Amino acid sequence: MPPVELLAPVSGPGVAASPPALGRLHGWGGGPPATGWLLRPDRAAAVRAALEMFRTRAIWTGVLARGMGRSYGDAAQLGGGLVLETALLKGYELDEREGTVTAGAGVTIGELLGGLVPAGWMVPVVPGTQHVSIGGAIAGDIHGKNHGSAGTFGAHVAEIGLLSAAGEELALAPGDPRFAATLGGMGLTGVILWARIRLRAVSSPFLAVDTDRVDDLDGALAALRAPGGPHRVAWLDLLGPRPGRGIVTRAEHLPGADVPAGARGAATVAARATVPPWWPSTLLVPRAVAAFNEFRFRRAPRRERGRVEPIGRHMFPLDALAAWPRLYGRSGFVQYQLVVPYGAESMLNAVIDQLRRASVPAYLTVLKDFGPANDAPLSFPLAGWTVAFDLPRAAPGIAPALDRCDALVAQAGGRVYLSKDARMRPDALRAMYPRLEEWRAVRDRADPDGVWRSDLALRTGLVPP
Ligand SMILES: Cc1cc2nc3c(=O)[nH]c(=O)nc-3n(C[C@H](O)[C@H](O)[C@H](O)COP(=O)(O)OP(=O)(O)OC[C@H]3O[C@@H](n4cnc5c(N)ncnc54)[C@H](O)[C@@H]3O)c2cc1C
Repeated sequence: MPPVELLAPVSGPGVAASPPALGRLHGWGGGPPATGWLLRPDRAAAVRAALEMFRTRAIWTGVLARGMGRSYGDAAQLGGGLVLETALLKGYELDEREGTVTAGAGVTIGELLGGLVPAGWMVPVVPGTQHVSIGGAIAGDIHGKNHGSAGTFGAHVAEIGLLSAAGEELALAPGDPRFAATLGGMGLTGVILWARIRLRAVSSPFLAVDTDRVDDLDGALAALRAPGGPHRVAWLDLLGPRPGRGIVTRAEHLPGADVPAGARGAATVAARATVPPWWPSTLLVPRAVAAFNEFRFRRAPRRERGRVEPIGRHMFPLDALAAWPRLYGRSGFVQYQLVVPYGAESMLNAVIDQLRRASVPAYLTVLKDFGPANDAPLSFPLAGWTVAFDLPRAAPGIAPALDRCDALVAQAGGRVYLSKDARMRPDALRAMYPRLEEWRAVRDRADPDGVWRSDLALRTGLVPP
């Protein structure tokens, strides 16, 4: 059952808090914007009414749900379409006996953690930002630093409420092909209205963190395999004297009994600074980033065990700086996130080499390990290594360099993450996602008229033009 706030019937003349308004949307990486009609339904019935409006007016190119807009590319925008922003689909109910929470699709991970952690519960999978909606987390089947032990976000979803293209409110559970097609389905199977999520019990808002400084990529891979906590991540410096040197952390929840006296911390983090709108992108050049990386590398302890850190500070470091994509200036950046299976480690070096040869600087590079893939045909993670590179979009030669990287990744049996993608071509998508046709078959049955669309889906051929 959805949270009670979502059940309210539509009252008065409107179907939403305000009528559709023309607006420009872009992804978190700041790519080319799309102009569409934006609507903020505030309950399930209003989402259904918006779908009816789409059918009767027939002036829009399609319909798409949008959460917090934290996908990096064009996944949450639709030029000429009706975009349903889920920010008002709020409300959640904790069931302590079952250890589950049922939340509206527009509730963010940060809002959940803020309420649940003091009550002794945690969402088992969180991404690198707390500003992600539950709908977006399911539609991207997102992963955290603990994929090796916890799997994706979808692995903890017991049930979803989905508005279908036919206007039905479906309650879907694992085992239903429509449920699997919605995990990682990028909003193309319907609007997720609510979800019931299994929680993990925690007794403090703290983590115990082990840190190792490593000299190269091989050192990072080894440190990510070392015994220790399940939340594992490596920051790599690709601009320094030894590309691939970095800092590896492994963290685990700290039981309440082990929290040092006087320790203070929270499960979320407040932005302490912001990047001003006038920030000159000329400041973000390889030499300046290399100097910053040098400082960051030297400041990290060579080896440290058991440092106590609040969940928020450790899990969401970027959230402390609001509007940080502005650092990249007007043209923005592309995040290229790939995964290759274990055994294909040489492909990581091959991709780094492609970027270096094309002089495309990777300003931020993050490496993680993944456990086995799940049953969702478009889910990104598979057992192997994932690397995310933040690359300035304006770098000359970036497009052909990433096309070459796509070919290497596909050849290794890997794939690129759709939640981050802003430029992949349809042939690359087909090569990387072998269960694409299986997903299409479920989707086409559920949405024969092609109601749900996005710029990403049209660009990559996920849906027909
Ligand atoms: C700083 C940062 C760190 C990140 N770290 C990670 C990470 O560690 N792991 C990871 O996996 N991802 C990570 N991400 C990516 C992010 O988790 C995903 O892109 C996520 O989907 C964003 O959620 P959102 O609410 O912003 O959705 P949006 O970006 O608004 O939408 C993303 C997709 O979800 C669909 N969608 C949204 N809401 C609904 C709904 N109610 N019903 C149906 N479809 C819907 C949209 O149509 C779109 O296709 C990170 C992003 C940032 C900015």
